[in-house]
This record gives sequence, structure tokens and C-alpha cells, in this order.
Amino acid sequence: CGIVGYIGKREIKSQLIEGLRELEYRGYDSAGIAVMQSGKIDSFKAVGKLTNLDNKTKNFLTDGLGVGIGHTRWATHGKPTELNAHPHMGDYSYVVHNGIIENYREIKSELENCGVNFLSQTDTEVIVHLFEKEYEHYKDTFAAFKATIERLEGAYAVLLITQKTPDTIYFARKGSPMIIGKNSENEVFFASSDAPLIGEAKEVAYMEDGTIGYATPDSIYTEPHTLQFVPLSGDKLTAQK
Ligand code: GLU
Repeated sequence: CGIVGYIGKREIKSQLIEGLRELEYRGYDSAGIAVMQSGKIDSFKAVGKLTNLDNKTKNFLTDGLGVGIGHTRWATHGKPTELNAHPHMGDYSYVVHNGIIENYREIKSELENCGVNFLSQTDTEVIVHLFEKEYEHYKDTFAAFKATIERLEGAYAVLLITQKTPDTIYFARKGSPMIIGKNSENEVFFASSDAPLIGEAKEVAYMEDGTIGYATPDSIYTEPHTLQFVPLSGDKLTAQK
């Protein structure tokens, strides 16, 4: 399973799918992406190999600044179906997640009692609905994201995008790997390992466990740990995966 994210001006779908391809060695049963440009989000999912996602997104191309998140799934909760593939959506936000949310049942029934409808059988879907519930309360996206992550027990690498803040990716990791990269062209990259970032990001930070933050084309904020960026060298052919 794997996770990728991108902020920048390249063709976003290709950037995400190429990134996921570099993570294929980790194994997966389905894949998906969500791309946001000018506050509009498009999402695609497919069971099986990345070629199936490729075929579904053939006519979808972006031009100009945007953000995107991508995922290859190794099902732990819910069968490997298209519905259970990530990204999972709320009313205005999308999330991808690697790992397991151990207390998802409790959160899910709380949200269901508030009238939230769940579309999938995954543990992951609670994240996006809880985020939107917290947003109603805080009216602040990062406060809502933090409150959401603080509720989660288990292991996670999470990326979330929302129409409330069109140029931003929210991220958190605990127990599952996630790396962030950047370069001088205001591009930001996320991935489960450095393989997809080689040749793309000039510098990478191997996030400490428990890091939570958000990134835009101009800035990256994290807490409670700061990011230690180091130069990323090597080329795709020789890099160890
Ligand atoms: N637990 C989540 C699911 O079953 C994520 C699995 C993964 O890490 O790919 O959808």
C-alpha cells in the first residue's frame, strides 16, 4: 500500500499515478486519486492494477496550479472493491489513509447518530466525516484536522484536501511511513517512501512519528515536531526502494 501527494503546476494526475507506480512494490489491490483545482475536486478509483486507473483517467488532464492526493490500498477493513478504494469523500473534502484506525467503530456510530451516511466499509471513511463535523464546530480547517487526528487510535499516514482551502494538503503520520519533499519551484511532494521523490524533490524530510501539519505552494507548517530537510540525491535507476 502507498500514499502520494502533490502541490504544484505539473500535470497532477500523471504526477500522482507515476508516484504510485514507484510504490507498487509495496503491494495493493486497488488505487485512486483526487485532484483539486480552483476549488473543484475530481476523484477516480479503480480495482486492480494502476493501468485500470490510468485507463479511467485518460481524458482527465490538469493545467496550472493544483493539489492532488493518491493511494494504493491493501484492504484491511472492507473488501477490495471500488467503493472501498480511497480517496474517501465527505461533502467537500477527500482523504487517503494507509494503516488501521482501531477505534473507527466508536467514531462511526457517533457520526451515524448525527445523521452521517457512510458509503464504504472502511475504517478510513470516519476520518473525512469527522473532519467535516469538527469543521462545523471550529470553522477552522487546521483546528478541525487536529481535533480529528487526535481522536484516532492506531496507525496512520493521512492526507486530506478540502474545498474550504483549495491550495492546501493536510497531513499526519503515526506508525505508518510518510515523507515530504520540496524544491525551488514551490512544489511539494508526499510519499510513503523516497522512491517517488527521487529526481523530483530537491530536499526531503522524514517526518517524525506524531507529526501533523499542512502544506501550501508557499509554506509548510508542522507541529509538534519541526521538519528536518535533507538533500535528496540519487537517480531513479540506482535508488534503493
Ligand atoms: N485500513 C484502510 C482500508 O482498509 C487502509 C488500508 C491501507 O493501508 O491501504 O481501507
